[in-house]
Amino acid sequence: MYPAPFDYHRANSVDEAIGMLSDIGEGARVMAGGQSLLPVLKMRFDELTDIVDIGRIPDLNQIEENGNGVSIGALTTHSCIAASALAGSVPILLDCASGIADVQVRSRGTIGGSVASGDPSCDWPALLHTLDAEIQCQGPNGTRTLDINGFVEDLYQTALQPSEIITGIRFKRPGAGSGGAYCAFKRCAPAYPTTSVGVQLTITDGQVESARVALGSSGLTPIRAQQAEAELEGQSLGAGQIGRAADAAVAASDPVDDQRGSADFKRQLIAHLTKRAIGIAERRASGEQVVNSHEYY
Ligand SMILES: Cc1cc2nc3c(=O)[nH]c(=O)nc-3n(C[C@H](O)[C@H](O)[C@H](O)COP(=O)(O)OP(=O)(O)OC[C@H]3O[C@@H](n4cnc5c(N)ncnc54)[C@H](O)[C@@H]3O)c2cc1C
Repeated sequence: MYPAPFDYHRANSVDEAIGMLSDIGEGARVMAGGQSLLPVLKMRFDELTDIVDIGRIPDLNQIEENGNGVSIGALTTHSCIAASALAGSVPILLDCASGIADVQVRSRGTIGGSVASGDPSCDWPALLHTLDAEIQCQGPNGTRTLDINGFVEDLYQTALQPSEIITGIRFKRPGAGSGGAYCAFKRCAPAYPTTSVGVQLTITDGQVESARVALGSSGLTPIRAQQAEAELEGQSLGAGQIGRAADAAVAASDPVDDQRGSADFKRQLIAHLTKRAIGIAERRASGEQVVNSHEYY
């Protein structure tokens, strides 16, 4: 189906985009890579009047490191992140970026669009919970920084205010003794995950100092599995601890039956993916290079 008619506007700066969004009002939508928005328009699920294309705003597609702080511009594509030096040294980013959809989607889709869409199946929001990321936003009332935890408030609903744009994502580079892994199970490459689990660990003297466990495609929003984290923190990792963390991750999830599988099937997957992600994160924390890719049916 063709999208319903709309007016197209290209913004050359963040200020100009915010001005356009404010002037047009309710019917305006931001477009970055268009990989989520255009399918929605073609299915006529959204009644917009105007598109404000931010895709060519300069300087929003940079990856910058300042000390141990990392900043990724909202327009950075999945492909650019996968090919970056940062993903080479923080492999959880490579796990995620290289497994999103197919080459076409990865070349156009952006990290900012993934977070802004509020889609619980998108990979970046779950992963960013494991890095305690912050979302940098700019709107008519200036700039603000929001915690990723709670940013996606409900299905396709985020904390973004009208006419507000995500400009970037910030987090601290994981330090010594840290390792992470993002594991997803998918029907095929150009499909969203059936479920996914991200784990980030810091291990000191054989004990887990801090743990983050987050679930994607496991409920109406990305889910931080805090009880699973508590099962790991302060412990030496063994089959018992890992099993209890996996059980806690399942308990935190809220999957539904859909075309990707039954809720029961997804719960089994979450347990499996949690154990797998903890295992890879532990090995990476010890300095081992571990190649990780999504699992396919
Ligand atoms: C076939 C297919 C398979 C896919 N598989 C996956 C997958 O496996 N995993 C996955 O994570 N994603 C997947 N996607 C979705 C897509 O890759 C991501 O959601 C993508 O990152 C969206 O980014 P975008 O730049 O294309 O956003 P757009 O489509 O341009 O925008 C998406 C939404 O976010 C808003 N928006 C975009 N950027 C901003 C911003 N900077 N500030 C405020 N609002 C903004 C738009 O208004 C819109 O509501 C798939 C898509 C397709 C078509």
